[in-house]
Amino acid sequence: MSLQQPKTRQEYQRARRVIPYGVNSNFRYWGDDDTLVVTRGEGAHIWDADGNRYLDYRMGFGPVILGHGYSAVAERVAQAVRQGGIIFAMTSTSEIDLAERFTRMTGMDKVRLANSGTEATMHALRLARAHTGREKFIKFEGQYHGMSDYFLYSTASSPRGSHGSPRNPVNVPASSGLPKAVAGYVVNLPYNHPEILESTVRAQWGDLAAIFVEPTMGNAAGILPQAGWLETIRKLCDEYGIVMVMDEVKTGFRLARGGAQEVFKIKADLATYAKAMSNGFPLAAIGGRDAVMDTLEPGSVAHGGTFTGNLVGVTAALATLEVFEKEPVHETINARGQLLMSGLGEILGDAGIPHHLLGLPAMFGIALGTAEAPVDYRGYLGSEMALYEEIMAGLIQRGVMPELDGREPWFLSYSHTENDIAETLTKFEDVVREAKR
Ligand code: PLP
Repeated sequence: MSLQQPKTRQEYQRARRVIPYGVNSNFRYWGDDDTLVVTRGEGAHIWDADGNRYLDYRMGFGPVILGHGYSAVAERVAQAVRQGGIIFAMTSTSEIDLAERFTRMTGMDKVRLANSGTEATMHALRLARAHTGREKFIKFEGQYHGMSDYFLYSTASSPRGSHGSPRNPVNVPASSGLPKAVAGYVVNLPYNHPEILESTVRAQWGDLAAIFVEPTMGNAAGILPQAGWLETIRKLCDEYGIVMVMDEVKTGFRLARGGAQEVFKIKADLATYAKAMSNGFPLAAIGGRDAVMDTLEPGSVAHGGTFTGNLVGVTAALATLEVFEKEPVHETINARGQLLMSGLGEILGDAGIPHHLLGLPAMFGIALGTAEAPVDYRGYLGSEMALYEEIMAGLIQRGVMPELDGREPWFLSYSHTENDIAETLTKFEDVVREAKR
């Protein structure tokens, strides 16, 4: 059965004629019959072109942490735009205000802005290379750090069975069009395997500029770091002069005000932020320790962009961070997310479906059908992904919208109410019963 109703189908066909596959990001393509077209959002809900309302758990792939069209943010942005320009090619006082608030909340010493997570990780990699004078870096299988060539290996798009031996992994390209030589700079390793990481670093440290890590697997169902994992990365980076880069594009300002670094009590040398920082307005940041950030220097180490520091994103971030400081946003999301996770687990348990709830309440996933909870991407790929997708499609048809693909976590916002959670659980129970049949 198609997820598209008549008006949505018609709009999708219109999109298909002028936009490749009808989407502005490949991740939004669900197939010709199932890709939806939305018209608006409000709070925790979105509406498709047929006027169907969905309770949204995708929240734009994570950024919309307060709710769609959240007035405290939207009105501040509208006011800023009306008041007198948004881009001056000079530092504005609002950028200084934001940098002060950002560094206070994240514990980073300094910050530079960018416009997307892709830009932030790209700049962080260059900075780490400039700082160390080395060229290679480690990332982990199933982790996604954006669209630049260096990071498009063994992402959360790579299929089961493609990664080679965990002790000697293969870099799996996520796209055509990547120059062959680029793969030579990237070392992909399985997540949560300290002994493999340690032996690789001891053998290759002289070439390694950085270890990039998503502190929870934000592109692989939210899998958590096992005890000691992030600490091992920290220790090896200290020992061998490697820059530890935490990619907090999904976790930053979402798991807690101070992001994953606050939750796991590990400080990175550099950290990249985007999504929840500005409730969906495009803005990103590279924060870090003085010693690394000070490597940035006009004329020697490049960072820039016409739109960096534009006042639409900056004002949105200022307003969003202000709400975080004044209201119990994270406490509320965590409590409701916990309620939701427990309820989903109970329903699956009652139905006799083996399952593991992964991640943290603000951003969690579910692995179906595995005996053990997966601790890395390979483990997640061994779960019953087709059954998961079938259940999610059933939920979407009933007006509740998590991502179809279980690698993308469920995202909660401050606008999700306890009634929304109750509605989700009732519908989930219904779908699970049907799937079992
Ligand atoms: N890093 C992580 C951990 C992400 O999840 C993403 C996107 O989902 C990115 C980087 C890239 O961010 P953007 O899509 O804003 O370029």
